Amino acid sequence: MHDDLDRLPGLLSHHAAALLAGLEDRPAAVVDRPPPPRRPLPAPTGLDGALAEFTERWEPGLSGSAGPRYLGFVTGGVTPAALAGDWLTGVLDQNPTSRLDSSAPALEDETTGWLAEILGLPSHTGMLVSGATMSNATGLAIAREWLGERAGISVADDGVGALGEITVFSAAPHASVHKALSLLGIGRKRLRTVPALPGREAADVTALDEALTALDGRPAIVVANAGTVNTVDFDDLGAISALRDRHPFWLHVDAAFGAFAALSPAHAGLVAALDQADSVCVDLHKWLNVPYDSAVQFTRRRDLQLRVFRNDAPYLGAPGDVPADLTPENSRRFRALPAWFTLRAYGRDGHRAVVERNIAQAHRLGALLETTPGWRLLAPVRLNVVCFAHETRSPDEIIRRASPEVFVTPTTLWGSPGLRAAFSNWRTSDDDVERAHRALLQ
Ligand SMILES: *Cc1c(COP(=O)(O)O)cnc(C)c1O
Repeated sequence: MHDDLDRLPGLLSHHAAALLAGLEDRPAAVVDRPPPPRRPLPAPTGLDGALAEFTERWEPGLSGSAGPRYLGFVTGGVTPAALAGDWLTGVLDQNPTSRLDSSAPALEDETTGWLAEILGLPSHTGMLVSGATMSNATGLAIAREWLGERAGISVADDGVGALGEITVFSAAPHASVHKALSLLGIGRKRLRTVPALPGREAADVTALDEALTALDGRPAIVVANAGTVNTVDFDDLGAISALRDRHPFWLHVDAAFGAFAALSPAHAGLVAALDQADSVCVDLHKWLNVPYDSAVQFTRRRDLQLRVFRNDAPYLGAPGDVPADLTPENSRRFRALPAWFTLRAYGRDGHRAVVERNIAQAHRLGALLETTPGWRLLAPVRLNVVCFAHETRSPDEIIRRASPEVFVTPTTLWGSPGLRAAFSNWRTSDDDVERAHRALLQ
């Protein structure tokens, strides 16, 4: 192992650098290459042997998901500074779970503070979690504790059964919200779908008002959306927030990637009321362009968060100020470092430029598809996603034909099968948009 240690700098400057340089030419997706058969653990051959085998057996099957024409899901790239931060995360291998041994947790606080600053969340504090799914689950766990507070009990101590039935409202919740409701013992069936405005995924606020009125003063949870995955629709956060004057509910906003609309002055109005939410979910491995896995859970009620996640381990330090007391995990990686690096290196303006470029690219692809015979948009382009379909070709067929040049993902919108192309990578150029369009037509 010590020999390998001496050779690491060379490996980094050769092997990793070559992979990085080849990223734009990697296949966007590898769709027709079966993975190599599993085999028993071979005799050890050191790092050289491991690297040779990885390069031959596994690397060809890996996608160019960090590259410019991977438009599937909502997949961010990795800025150079974020990658440097990620490399250092592995080198330093901090465990920011307690404050006893290093200033790593303080760097995490600075990072979430910078994010709160650029995303317009001055009333919130943030903690790092692995992704938006975990951020939604954490936010909804705090919501559940708030329901307990209203009922004069502690769900953390007495269990969710002490609360009775919980009602959750949302117009177009992300799949992960259903998972979170299952995980938290609230139950998937407790989600009441709020009617959306005609032709939209945004909630009809009048219908939500009526549904809340029917609860007769019983507290509820509302999950609002700031950027749905198919049509990137935004709930009217200001109007929903104002309903709290008349109805008791916890407002959780899933702003996994839509929060970054705040960086574009032309779109910031969509999230102007985000700070009024009680909890907010923001992914960093999407539009901030840091490597997996990284997201933030923002809340205005850290006291309730502590009640839920309190770890009560004297060896971690005084309860309350310990990161492990605030999130589902105890030990974890120094997750904030890549985000700290990219924010410090490029700032609000650098990330604003990425967001604005991606928005323009989505509009460009939308315009190209709209004027190409046989193709149609399933929804207008609102931000960075194009949702579209072909008259006769199935989504699967289009995905296969477009690969390896470009990767898009299938979806269903209002019962119609379609495809989504999501722009969220700093590397994507305007030429990549033209290439993606040509590949889709093949
Ligand atoms: C991506 C996404 C999620 C889930 O995020 P993960 O990072 O995959 O856990 C939740 N909500 C929205 C709106 C998303 O776009």
